[in-house]
Amino acid sequence: MSYDLNKLVTAQDNLLLAEVAAWVHDWQKCIDMKVASDWNNNPNVNKVKIRNWQQRGTTLKPGDFADVLEKLVPNLCVSGNNIKEIAELGRQPSQARSSSNHLIRVLGQSHDVSHVEKELGDHESKDQATDWIASPFGWEPIQPDNLLKRLLGEPKTLLKNFSAIARKKILVSLQSVFAEAWGDTRRPINEVTLWDWSSIVAALYKAELARCVLTTQQRSPSDVAWRLLSIRVDGLQYLLSVSRIPDLLARRELLSDAWNRVQTLIEETYPLGLEVYRDENGPVFVVPDIENLLDESQVAQDGGERKTLRDLIRDAFAAGTVKNDSSLAIRHERVPELYLDDKPWKGQPAPQELPPIVNHLKRDIRETTDPQWLETLWRGQNAEVCTVCGLRPQGPDPKAQERKVCDTCEQRRTDRAQQWVGTLRCGDHPTIWIDDLTDIHGRYALIVGAFDLSGWLAGDLVRTLVVRQPDNKNRTTDKVSKNPSFARLRRIWETTYAFWQQVGSTEPGMLSDAVIGRVVGRAEPRLEIKCSLNVQTLVPYHTYELVLPEGIRLSVLWDGNGFVTCDNLTYLNGLMRSGKIQDILKQGKTFLIEASDDTGKRRQLGNITLSQDAVPIANGSFVPALPLLAEPRVFMALVPADRALEVIRQIKTKYEREMGKVRNRLPLHLGVVFAPRPTPLRAVLDAGRAMLERQTVASVWEVLCCAQKMVSKGDSLPARFQPDQAGQFAEWYEVTLQKDDQRLTWHIPALMGDSQTEDLWYPYVFLDDQVEPTTRKRYFKSRNPWKGCDGWLVHAAELQVGDQVWFAPATFDFEFLDTTTRRFEIHYDTNGRRANRHTRPFYLDDLERFDRLWEVFLRLSTTQRHQVVRMIEATREEWFGQDHGGTSVTDQVFRQFVHDTLAGAEWDWKALSQNIRAQLVAAGTKGELADLLELRMEILKEE
Ligand SMILES: [Zn+2]
Repeated sequence: MSYDLNKLVTAQDNLLLAEVAAWVHDWQKCIDMKVASDWNNNPNVNKVKIRNWQQRGTTLKPGDFADVLEKLVPNLCVSGNNIKEIAELGRQPSQARSSSNHLIRVLGQSHDVSHVEKELGDHESKDQATDWIASPFGWEPIQPDNLLKRLLGEPKTLLKNFSAIARKKILVSLQSVFAEAWGDTRRPINEVTLWDWSSIVAALYKAELARCVLTTQQRSPSDVAWRLLSIRVDGLQYLLSVSRIPDLLARRELLSDAWNRVQTLIEETYPLGLEVYRDENGPVFVVPDIENLLDESQVAQDGGERKTLRDLIRDAFAAGTVKNDSSLAIRHERVPELYLDDKPWKGQPAPQELPPIVNHLKRDIRETTDPQWLETLWRGQNAEVCTVCGLRPQGPDPKAQERKVCDTCEQRRTDRAQQWVGTLRCGDHPTIWIDDLTDIHGRYALIVGAFDLSGWLAGDLVRTLVVRQPDNKNRTTDKVSKNPSFARLRRIWETTYAFWQQVGSTEPGMLSDAVIGRVVGRAEPRLEIKCSLNVQTLVPYHTYELVLPEGIRLSVLWDGNGFVTCDNLTYLNGLMRSGKIQDILKQGKTFLIEASDDTGKRRQLGNITLSQDAVPIANGSFVPALPLLAEPRVFMALVPADRALEVIRQIKTKYEREMGKVRNRLPLHLGVVFAPRPTPLRAVLDAGRAMLERQTVASVWEVLCCAQKMVSKGDSLPARFQPDQAGQFAEWYEVTLQKDDQRLTWHIPALMGDSQTEDLWYPYVFLDDQVEPTTRKRYFKSRNPWKGCDGWLVHAAELQVGDQVWFAPATFDFEFLDTTTRRFEIHYDTNGRRANRHTRPFYLDDLERFDRLWEVFLRLSTTQRHQVVRMIEATREEWFGQDHGGTSVTDQVFRQFVHDTLAGAEWDWKALSQNIRAQLVAAGTKGELADLLELRMEILKEE
């Protein structure tokens, strides 16, 4: 059986118009007056606000939007109905089922299937209608406003003039309103936005309509099913196997352009389905339920040759490029793996019919290059291989050969540098040069982060959130849990993606306002250098080094007319004894100029003479940091080494605020790789990737104390949560947990965004005990993914001292690459521990303890600090050798030795509190003092 894709091309306009019906089918949820009437049931919503929203009907007419929809009539599946009618009938399941119009029947089914996350009945929990939108983790950050006014603005105008070409623009415009509108105003299902909700309905609807067009068969709503199609490459490997930042940025852009082309192919050129997920490895689409869809749907080319959908997708990916320049395209450097569900799913009932998205995400992706393509590249060649791509022969251009790269990689690199020069005077741009983002000691840091979403995307952990209160009749997931619906899963990865984008946005112009931008601050403007050249020709947009007095080398970029510094001037000024850089770069002065290749080898090119004094670039201050990746799961950014710890602290606080209610189930792993500036970027990226490989180790902890605290009662809220003290942190549960000799304190926000409503839905904890906890009120049973069987969950307010609970801790690791081979030491055993560094990774919560200990440790002189730690570690080695089993940590005699060493140091030991003394001895025995000393003094060079 084969299917002609040309049928989709013929039906394109009508298919894309019909798609609109699904996107807007619930647009009435944007009517302010209607939303306000929901709020009337909740005494906590401000009465004045309700009245204001209700009165908007006097100036805004929802009918204006309906009128636009009425004029849009898709001519598909023998329909005579307009979009307004299709949407209205389609969202009422009973009417939709009996409709004679297939478009309405399919929309009814798509709507119904997506409805799986609305566990609440129509009349249930009406008093929980709220004016806040929640995240899927129970954080309520926004109170939307003016939904109808916005809908009647650009979205209405664009829809009025609907055309297939305007589709993307229409969606962006709808998103700007729908993403701030409620799918449902009632807690706790106020976390799915109208946008998530509509996009899932649209995906299901479009794929089934495309199936009807392709197969010319309509099927009854109860038979309708779908499949997922993923198109994946080893994105991390591809992005990170580079030696310079411009290479990485070029690859990021190549991949993103390649995925955009695939998206356009599947959503518009041959309108088959909709993208529902994307990360660094690629997208996942909902597509028609057709077995062998990839190979049996075909289209005839001009020459008569037939191409399958698989060919078309691969071609679209291969055309992915930068600046729309086909000569720089990705081609077959990577060949994506296509995977189509082998079995269809119907979306309901959960969980057996849920889309199996996790199966797609957990597949191993091989690194694949097209061997035939490689062979043609190398036919008749005896050049060496390019040091950047490792695929093409170097050259043929002599300039590229000199740099040991192929023409394509050379050109991609140059483009990035050229683009960077273009933004120099814009005021808000990141750097793309390592030398630029070193600290005053010439060191930089790679920050890496990863959320473990596996249990969430598989659905188990979504079921640990309740939608309705458990009681003696209802203690099972089907009665009380949230369903892992498609829209909800989408909301989860959108939320972690947004989290990373807010930490360090990869979008142009957004860095200053992100966490990293605020922590790192801005650097002084670069210098512009005008000169005459006494050298062989320089290549525009390449970097060179000027040799200054005292052998100091200044990185500069040649833009064709002059040089721009791309180096940390503060750092270099600190090194120079004979004056500041700007005072040296004076008119008439002559300097040697050098070039270096990727291996760091330098060549002298001649010299330059300044034709005028070097001057700072106007409006040229910049953020000396660079986010490399901000995806749903992983994050990577380069920052000056001395800012890295503060960035980590801020990420931690953001995580505790926004994910604090579920952090026992949503671990975050952070790491920092520190390096001195000559360290090759590739080694640092390798080390960062190794850190991302660590697995979550959830285990059983004992509750040492648990207390409910309130700001109003004078309980002290840690300073980092102060901004929320009038919100979700006005009350909190403070739970201290212990495992072996490790302790951590979990601050759980007890309230919702309005600072009044108790959070009854999110902060649940798995008990280890299999016995039903009948002494508590709020508890139920659900699958514990770490234990692999059902377990009892209890609300955090009802934890008791002595409870054995499951906790998946967040962790933090760091490494200093004093040599590039140090990166091979970063690997983790099955317990998630570093094989040769017993203390690492640390719990993220240890950061505050370390800060406190360090503050105390500073009372010792620098020499004393080194002496104490050296004595402890030398003795450990003498007594226990390599101590792979970690016996020193539990050895009482050694502990006594650590105590005596600390007590005997030159400080007033007795003046320290007993608690601090005990903590110091424990940290010394474990080896943490050595880690602290390394981090604060050797790496960060704090005094
Ligand atoms: Zn290359």
